[in-house]
Amino acid sequence: MINSGKVWLVGAGPGDAALITVRGLHCIRQADALVYDRLVSPDLLSEAPDGCKMINVGKTPNYHPVPQRQINQILVECAQQGLNVVRLKGGDPYVFGRGGEEAEALALAKIPFEVVPGISSSIGGLACAGIPVTHRDYASGFHVITGHLRQGNESQDWTLLAKLEGTLVILMGMTQLASICEQLIAGGKAPTTPAAVVMYASHQQQQVASATLITLAQQVAAQGLTAPALIVIGDVVRLRERLAFSRDRLLLTSVPSLMAL
Ligand code: SAH
Repeated sequence: MINSGKVWLVGAGPGDAALITVRGLHCIRQADALVYDRLVSPDLLSEAPDGCKMINVGKTPNYHPVPQRQINQILVECAQQGLNVVRLKGGDPYVFGRGGEEAEALALAKIPFEVVPGISSSIGGLACAGIPVTHRDYASGFHVITGHLRQGNESQDWTLLAKLEGTLVILMGMTQLASICEQLIAGGKAPTTPAAVVMYASHQQQQVASATLITLAQQVAAQGLTAPALIVIGDVVRLRERLAFSRDRLLLTSVPSLMAL
């Protein structure tokens, strides 16, 4: 019987390849198999060693070409063949994206695994757009909410969520943007609350629409922004005017070997 390999659930960070962790890059550079999603940067994929088995499971919010059960099975089977598997997921593996379910499947199959956290788009993606998720003067906390619940479940109660203090960050909410904004207003959030949408945060093609809760959907339509995007609502959005910055590109090929780490 072949000794089982191990699975590393690695967070790729919000998009820019250089925002992966040192440990995450180290895992990719040593992988026998790399199982990855659609939003993962090609620059990270090219860090896999020659001969690494590349498996695209191409998940997007409303379109899962490979069903989750099958992804879990791929991870288990590759490890059972003795391969060291990297499951590369956008952002942090445990912030939505069903990383917890993948870990459960591995635990159930008694496959050794490790989680390598990543920079979640919900925090780091906003930072790249010049929006600090908290600020002493504007928000003493934040909530990260999904706009997309399991099929068959009731949708989020946005009128209730409107009562929360602090910054609201909504992932996978773009298809319902107008309705979310309307319901938040109906639930008591001021229509003039600053609000923004950040598309492709941290990527070269990052774009931001900045508005208020009542004008956001219209502004987003005018600029033609679509998923993948973050919706952010709260006074911290105001800071973008002063804190937006441009970034230089860092190529991973210029990052030396990390074998010693
Ligand atoms: N685990 C990921 C989130 C997975 S859910 C994380 O921690 O970031 C996928 C959703 O995340 C997308 O629909 C989008 O709302 C958001 N997202 C991920 N990467 C993004 C990016 N670079 N820019 C904007 N939104 C992003």
